[in-house]
Amino acid sequence: MSAATGIVYLVGAGPGDPGLMTVRSLELIVAADVIVHDRLIPAEALAPARPDAELLYVGKEPGTASVPQNRIEELLIERAREGKIVVRLKGGDPFVFGRGGEEAEALAAAGVPFEVVPGITAGVAAPAFAGIPVTHRDDASGVAFVTGHLDPAKAAAGEASLDYPALAAFPGTLVFYMGVKALPQIAERLIAEGRDPAEPAAVIERGTLPGQRTVTAGLAEIAAEASRAEIKPPALTVVGPVAARREQIAWLERRPLHGVTVVVTRARAQASELSRRLAALGADPIELPAIRIEPRLETPEVRQAVEGIRSYALVCLTSANAVRLLFEAMAGQGLDARALAGAQLAAIGPGTAAALAEFGLLADLLPERMVAESLAEALEEIDLKGKPVLLARAAEGREVLPDALRRLGAELDVVALYETVPETPEPETIERARAADYVTFTSGSTVRNLLDALGGELPPGARIASIGPVTSGAALEAGLEVHVEATQHDIGGLVEALLADAAG
Ligand code: SAH
Repeated sequence: MSAATGIVYLVGAGPGDPGLMTVRSLELIVAADVIVHDRLIPAEALAPARPDAELLYVGKEPGTASVPQNRIEELLIERAREGKIVVRLKGGDPFVFGRGGEEAEALAAAGVPFEVVPGITAGVAAPAFAGIPVTHRDDASGVAFVTGHLDPAKAAAGEASLDYPALAAFPGTLVFYMGVKALPQIAERLIAEGRDPAEPAAVIERGTLPGQRTVTAGLAEIAAEASRAEIKPPALTVVGPVAARREQIAWLERRPLHGVTVVVTRARAQASELSRRLAALGADPIELPAIRIEPRLETPEVRQAVEGIRSYALVCLTSANAVRLLFEAMAGQGLDARALAGAQLAAIGPGTAAALAEFGLLADLLPERMVAESLAEALEEIDLKGKPVLLARAAEGREVLPDALRRLGAELDVVALYETVPETPEPETIERARAADYVTFTSGSTVRNLLDALGGELPPGARIASIGPVTSGAALEAGLEVHVEATQHDIGGLVEALLADAAG
């Protein structure tokens, strides 16, 4: 084998929730030269891929032809022989109804090195998210994973494609994958072979994904119930007494924001913090990064301010971004937090103070309300006459603070560390946003940018939640009604206000 031979990793991407991908799968996605993937992989799974990685979709849209299996296998072999690191990424586990076994055989036969990275299979994860333990000491001493995809050739020949007598006799839980279409037949045959018609059953649609749904009924009624609920793939069916345990231990649907869709508009990094918190409470966040932070660290003002950083009596920071970028600019000149040892530090609000704390610094001044006016008021308490003061902020900041600082006699340097620039969202994201329950605003610029992104109109039924009075002001000015305003003007406060509103 030549040294140039690559390798194929057969990798499971888990059942759909990106949080259920393994550490190993993410490492390999980052390292891959080529990623050959299916349809049922988490939406975010390819995001960490290298920009120059080759991404090949070989999945099948329902009702259309897919890339033939032997062509997929050839592709894996070809790319590996070119010396590439190839990741074959599949939903769930690669060896559970994923044809991973066939691909491993083809690779072994071709003498191509490969490794298998298991994933969390939907048959365990979707029931777990629905509050159904697939085994239980009291009523399921085993679990069988069964394909519900009926072989058309066998069906045509009048043969059953599953061993129903054996399945009916199985002493434990039955989990059927791919069985939405065949569910009436499966249930009927299991009952005919002796399974109790009243045995609890559940169908779980889009398990672990936003909008997961579960339908429960006795085995005799489950197919009719699933069809009434218009259950669509991907879905799986659980048959067994464990399905009834859901009544007691369902947890997903009981989270306070379950099923609530929330538009999150903010620069990407911070949006993810808000989204993460909302998702943890059960909400389905729709990220519209309508604005993006563009650092401006290469300007003469920034360079000068950082060179003279030790001389300031007071450093005012007006956002978490300003804090992080100031430290980045300082690091560029070989400086760290110690360069701020002699200065007082003023933060505009708790989020900014928290960003300072990340660098081991406590804010000396933190106004009660997170608005420039409030900080200006707090500054009156200290003697700034003739003292050098640095105000680090965004390019498009308001003039309230600079005016106040100058009025107090400070020798003021105002330095713009970044600009917030609009970003164009994907059409699908815009579509989802239009049906949202809530829209969140975390600054005046998010109001303007979201309106631009959505063509001047917000989702018709959505309630509008704002982080504080200045942002609310910007929303009102834009002709919007604000339904929810945070009392604490940071991400935590916004989430709390939204929770209270949703509960009321
Ligand atoms: N290798 C995958 C299964 C592939 S077969 C795994 O280990 O999970 C595809 C079938 O898996 C679907 O038809 C459906 O029955 C099931 N499935 C996959 N993802 C699912 C999900 N998020 N919720 C419910 N069922 C899912």
